[in-house]
Amino acid sequence: MSSTVLPSGCGICGKQKDLLRCEQCKVMPYCGPNHQSDHLQAHKSACNDIKECREVMEAEEIVLNDHLNTGFVMTAYPFDNSNTHPLPLYSFYDYMSACFTLIKATKRVRNHESTEAQLSYLMYMLGLCRSDVRGIRILVPPLMLSLNKDQDCYDFIKWWNSDYYKQDQEGTILPYVDITGDDPFEPVDFLEQHAVCLTLLKVKMFLDLQCVEESFFVLRPRLPREIVDQIHRSVPQSLIIRECRQIVRADREGCLELLLKLEEQIQQMHRMVSKRNQWFWNMLAHPVNWLDEAPDEYAIGSVEEAALTLCASYDAWRDTPNALDFINAITDTHPLLKDIRDVGPNSST
Ligand SMILES: [Zn+2]
Ligand SMILES: [Zn+2]
Repeated sequence: MSSTVLPSGCGICGKQKDLLRCEQCKVMPYCGPNHQSDHLQAHKSACNDIKECREVMEAEEIVLNDHLNTGFVMTAYPFDNSNTHPLPLYSFYDYMSACFTLIKATKRVRNHESTEAQLSYLMYMLGLCRSDVRGIRILVPPLMLSLNKDQDCYDFIKWWNSDYYKQDQEGTILPYVDITGDDPFEPVDFLEQHAVCLTLLKVKMFLDLQCVEESFFVLRPRLPREIVDQIHRSVPQSLIIRECRQIVRADREGCLELLLKLEEQIQQMHRMVSKRNQWFWNMLAHPVNWLDEAPDEYAIGSVEEAALTLCASYDAWRDTPNALDFINAITDTHPLLKDIRDVGPNSST
């Protein structure tokens, strides 16, 4: 299966319905006060951190409000195209830094609610500051993948690789992230940015399609229809795969062709990423210590760039069952890639 395994529900028992949220951090749900108090010890440190960072962010929001001198509302929908403030960048700087620190603190809680909150802050920040001076855009697609927003992830990556650059060239403000429902199976030739995350998306699609193909076409002739249908329903699928024409039409040939196409695209993207940065794939296979702190600066092709991409995307790789095994097997077939164990934090261990 390739739906992600991001935890959700009550922090103790995982119950999914009738939950209350921790009032301090607003990202940890509980089934009731008993489990909230059972979790207090484990949750306290991250919770306080998030609360403090939010207070700083809210104070900066008031300052920014004064700058804007207009009805600036934090809860505005992040994709709202009218959200373009003709303010100089420095007006946003402290506010953006506070938001970024809040996102880092929120990351300490690993669950669905926290991931939703991080994504929402990031999209809002990108809407405010399209030039993305902080380089936060690389954090967006992995969060979308962890949340199983696979189509949103594809559209976001496509937009950054196409329309974003037109904004600079044409000197106009085009609508923000206005690509929706593009074909995630299409060729990947357009790709310059977010190559690692698009690779993960394709791996996720491949594993999902393979799983459905096996339950749908391989088991059906051998087992009673109702049992196969039951298995088919219980296989978690991304919407992309569930709505895939070949599956809907029960066209096995087409489905196998699609699997082959995805596999080729994954190989192509693996090469593209290796060409830009020879460290990344081996770092993903041996991440120890590299995940501790994302570097602030990097040069293209450097170990630091690989570490930054690793820190941004590792949770999404880990959240997608079998994705790491799948990609590491491809990396193993490229022995000429630079071995990350020869340098940096791992070399002394
Ligand atoms: Zn509970
Ligand atoms: Zn809390």
